[in-house]
Formats: sequence, C-alpha cells, structure tokens
Amino acid sequence: MHINAYADKYIIEHILFMKEKPHSFWIQKAIALAKQGQTPFGALLVNTKDEFITAYNTTKLNGPTAHAEMNVIRQMHLLDYTETKTLRLYTSVEPCPMCMSAIVWAGIGSVIYGASIDDAAKYGKQIHVNSSEIVSKSWLSIQIIHHIERSLCLELFE
Ligand SMILES: [Zn+2]
Repeated sequence: MHINAYADKYIIEHILFMKEKPHSFWIQKAIALAKQGQTPFGALLVNTKDEFITAYNTTKLNGPTAHAEMNVIRQMHLLDYTETKTLRLYTSVEPCPMCMSAIVWAGIGSVIYGASIDDAAKYGKQIHVNSSEIVSKSWLSIQIIHHIERSLCLELFE
C-alpha cells in the first residue's frame, strides 16, 4: 500500500521484508526524512502491522507549528489501528513540549527518539521541557525510548 496525500509529504507504506524491525531501522528512516525535508526533523507513526506514515518539518512552508511530529499526527487517521496506544511514533529529535502534548492528546502509546532536546538546544532555540515531564503531568502512561542512533541524528544539525 502506498498512499500519497498532502502534497506528497505523507506516505503510507507497507513493507513486507524484515519482521520485528529494530528501533534503529525506524530512526534511520526518520533521519532520511529529515534530510529529505532539509531540516534535522523527521518523524514516522507506525502501527502494529508496520504500516506507517511519514513527515518532516515544514515550518518554512506551513508555519511555526508544522513540526515533523505535528505533521505526522495530523495524518494519523490514514493509519489502520483500533487503539491509539498501539501506535509508535519515531522521531529524529525528542518531541518539543508542543509536539509531546499533541502526542498525549492523540493517545499514542510509545515515542522513540534519537537526539534529545538537550542535544538540540546546542544548535538552536528549544523549550527546555523534556518529553517525560509532559507525560508525567498527563493522565497517560507513554513509553519513551531515547538516544536511538543519537550520533546520526546529531549529524543532522551540522
Ligand atoms: Zn515540536
């Protein structure tokens, strides 16, 4: 399955090879997306069948809230799922407070990222609230896995 929507930025694909793909597989896809968008920020939302939608940061085109995670969440209706908590969001950089709040509102069950907000802050503006802090102040329990392919994600800033 391959669906293009929203100016070719969001894609659903179903890959049949490699069962049980490791987190690094998906983070490397997030890195490729970031490069495609010419920013350090790429994100994917993956369901239990390993179908996924992709996005990168489009703030230059779509305004200041068009972070990769926001862009991918806006398209989550394109994915097949029964419970939102079964979805995994992969992102090259830890979600900022805006995106992490959106992830909570969306009820996404897992977040896996490469570089942290602290890492990203060395290269530009950041709001220093970690993703785990946002979750701790919500009603949800969200699994957060950090620093997958961190050095590759950091290279995106250079
Ligand atoms: Zn964000």
